[in-house]
Amino acid sequence: MPTYVRTDKCDGCKGQDKTACMYICPHDLMKLDKDGSETGHAMRAFNQEPEQCWECYSCVKICPQQAIEARHYADIVPLGGQVQPLRGSDSIMWTIKFRNGTLKRFKFPIRTTPEGSIDPYGGKPSADIAKIAENGFFNHMEQNGYRVGNPAELIRK
Ligand code: SF4
Ligand code: SF4
Repeated sequence: MPTYVRTDKCDGCKGQDKTACMYICPHDLMKLDKDGSETGHAMRAFNQEPEQCWECYSCVKICPQQAIEARHYADIVPLGGQVQPLRGSDSIMWTIKFRNGTLKRFKFPIRTTPEGSIDPYGGKPSADIAKIAENGFFNHMEQNGYRVGNPAELIRK
């Protein structure tokens, strides 16, 4: 079930060229309707291909206005229920609304290091593109039933 944008909450990320939801969607589905010609709501984002959405929740979590919601499968979140995250710098709070109106909140820590401090390539050797054609680059030896990678199959020259 895809996400949808609540136009009453979305502020178009204040007119930035790339909104937070556009930045984060791994499927490139979110789009800002700058002049309102596509949705009738100028400067509001929308999910341009809902049938392609895999409900990863990335856009829901990153939206600073909590403007994105997901339509859930009825067996997981019955009609009238709602699940909404609010991401902080060190924790995330999930607000669960049951269809009888009951609200419950669950807060979880999400980090063990300060935000922005991770260097994913720190301490690692830089990539050596000259090795890309080496046999065994993808798999060093035949083991556990896997054969050595064949560059002719793996690399388009
Ligand atoms: S991240 Fe939220 S506020 Fe920003 S454009 Fe997307 S839906 Fe609107
Ligand atoms: S839920 Fe995931 S795939 Fe769907 S629009 Fe949001 S970021 Fe993209």
